[in-house]
Amino acid sequence: MIPYGRHSVDDDDIAAVVQVLKGDWLTQGPAVPAFERAIAEQVEANYAVAFSSGTAALHAATSASGLGPGDVVATSPLTFVASANCSRYVGAHITLVDIDPKTLLLDPTDIPNGITALVAVHYAGLPLDLTRLPYRPRVVIEDAAHALGARTPDGPVGNCARSDMAVFSFHPVKHITTGEGGMITTNDAELANELRKFRSHGIIPTPEHGGWAYNAAGNGFNYRFTDIQAALGMSQLRKLGSFVTRRNELAERYRELLTDLPVVTPPPAPAGFLHAYHLFPIQVSGRDKVYEHMWAAGIGVQVHYVPLHRHDVFADLRNSRLPHADGAYSRLLSLPLFPTLTEAEQDLVVRSLADAL
Ligand SMILES: *Cc1c(COP(=O)(O)O)cnc(C)c1O
Repeated sequence: MIPYGRHSVDDDDIAAVVQVLKGDWLTQGPAVPAFERAIAEQVEANYAVAFSSGTAALHAATSASGLGPGDVVATSPLTFVASANCSRYVGAHITLVDIDPKTLLLDPTDIPNGITALVAVHYAGLPLDLTRLPYRPRVVIEDAAHALGARTPDGPVGNCARSDMAVFSFHPVKHITTGEGGMITTNDAELANELRKFRSHGIIPTPEHGGWAYNAAGNGFNYRFTDIQAALGMSQLRKLGSFVTRRNELAERYRELLTDLPVVTPPPAPAGFLHAYHLFPIQVSGRDKVYEHMWAAGIGVQVHYVPLHRHDVFADLRNSRLPHADGAYSRLLSLPLFPTLTEAEQDLVVRSLADAL
């Protein structure tokens, strides 16, 4: 079976984890801030705060932004449920903005007046161009779970040139992995502080009352990231550049191999942008049959995503008019794409697709 995504963990990664396991700190130790600094440097942001998952990080982002009941948060319908659940966790209202059928990203010209916040999803690894927003909402959170390693004319995604925070995920199908894990980058010291508090029970130390003393000063959870995860992340991060380069090479090779087939390939990055190619989502007619055929041939294609308004948990959004998201959903199919995918495997994927068509 060739899966649609797969982690790449080598002996260096394993050795890095073993080293932490033999040390004094499994959690709340020095590997966590070291990894946070490395990510902040990588994406050219002032601060990075690690979380137990990308979803926990998104929750922290909406909470630290002060979003709540009465606020309207816009996001794309063509994303993973976590992009919207994070707004629901804090009681904010969600509005879905249809996609641009060319980019498969939220169409900035469809953003309604009066939204408080935008969760900007860089679907498949193509950055949403934030210079095209009709106005600057109070809060802009980038859901950059697909976009570690991507760039815009403003620099690396995560430098928050036009946002308050960017959220990354280290789930095994993403660009680098820590098993589970997530990270927020920001340039705002106060937000970074809020995020760290939220990660650990809302607690702040109060040494003025004694060395032991602390105050649970606000809402919080245990969303901590372990040193074990941090060691793996640090080792993986060294390979991010080569991973993203390989994803781009394989994506270009797919484009060439697919030229004569009746499929729509995903939009390439415009000039000045670097695509991170978390996914290679093509569009085909008769998608359901193609999916079945390819699975039967051992090719684990996937569909990204069932649009948010089609899930029961978002039943209140069911009547949203989202013709482009619905249209794309009926045709979308993500072909296998990960750094260790071989050209022979890629040829097999294309042959199986041609067969199915
Ligand atoms: C993976 C992903 C998340 C959530 O990340 P986890 O680390 O799995 O919690 C959020 N948004 C998008 C778009 C994702 O793909």
